[in-house]
Amino acid sequence: MTQKILITGGAGFIGSAVIRHLIAETDAAVVNVDKLTYAANLDSLKPVADNPRYAFEKADICDGAAMAHLLEKHRPTAIMHLAAESHVDRSIDGPGAFIMTNVVGTYALLDASVAYWRSLDEAGRARFRFHHISTDEVFGSLGETGFFTETTPYDPSSPYSSSKASSDHLVRAWHRTYGLPVVLSNCSNNYGPCQFPEKLIPLMILNALEGRPLPVYGQGTNVRDWLYVEDHARALWEVLSKGAPGESYNVGGNNEMKNIEVVQMICDILDDVVDPLPGGPRRGLITHVKDRPGHDQRYAIDASKIRRDLGWEPRETFDTGLRRTVDWYLDNRDWWQPLRDGVYAGGRLGLAV
Ligand code: NAD
Repeated sequence: MTQKILITGGAGFIGSAVIRHLIAETDAAVVNVDKLTYAANLDSLKPVADNPRYAFEKADICDGAAMAHLLEKHRPTAIMHLAAESHVDRSIDGPGAFIMTNVVGTYALLDASVAYWRSLDEAGRARFRFHHISTDEVFGSLGETGFFTETTPYDPSSPYSSSKASSDHLVRAWHRTYGLPVVLSNCSNNYGPCQFPEKLIPLMILNALEGRPLPVYGQGTNVRDWLYVEDHARALWEVLSKGAPGESYNVGGNNEMKNIEVVQMICDILDDVVDPLPGGPRRGLITHVKDRPGHDQRYAIDASKIRRDLGWEPRETFDTGLRRTVDWYLDNRDWWQPLRDGVYAGGRLGLAV
């Protein structure tokens, strides 16, 4: 029997990559449930919008009755839960929306999911999965050495990461208490096509393209472990289709980079592929600005469990993935220009003042 997957947050950066992947590479049908916040963009789904295996429902995961109705209407074989408020800086300015969607919304979705799961026949219950998509930020900050494993204690620093940690706990509790067959994945920082240009990599690409300042937080020594979004989408499908109920899987690309190195690489790629700026090489646009409050120093993932148990491997190195990403933004101005002109022009967020 083919899968029918209800995906929450499918109009966002990672959700849209997952949907494009599932429609292109599997025979699964997809129902995209998204509230369409500022971070959503249905243009990211243009390649699949007319596919008979794709459906869209505009709804808020906090609305339990709406979730129950959509589950009954579409009768999915699995749920992939990606809907979230996702930007750390915005969580500093306005934590309420993060608690509402990431914690209360996850609860509402779990509640509706358990009722739906109980209504399935035995075979349907056995095959059903609730896949919660989470972040490595729940583990807090690493020192110079070491990696996050699946058993690293939770120690979140920001309103965003603590709301995601809360949702992870809820999902595990719904497995242990009600028997809901859940799988979880905690992934490192993603980058790639269709990422809202408030996040480091697209913001720096667009500012560097336009010759605007490149604001690096603090000294730029914070380390992130970058993963190309299409590698993440493939990993999520492996976790959903092969992961063991109750288990969590860390996902990362083994691409540790300091933020300043990432920005320098973007400058150098753009100097290579577009017209030079009158003021000289784009590295000259880098400015150091006040650090993010509570800024975690280093994240690094030990992804040996997903590699060993599920056979997943990333395909992109940071070098190849970053070049593909820069190319995508150069080729898709019609995707991002309206966002820069409208909902987010690139100003500083998250100063906690
Ligand atoms: P995003 O901000 O690009 O997209 C989030 C989507 O969720 C948007 O389409 C938005 O409209 C939708 N949404 C928000 N609130 C909703 C609500 N109440 N009801 C229904 N839909 C709602 O986020 P992303 O970067 O694609 O992240 C997706 C998931 O992956 C999140 O759960 C995030 O925590 C997790 N994650 C992200 C990263 C990363 O680097 N971006 C890394 C690891 C994990």
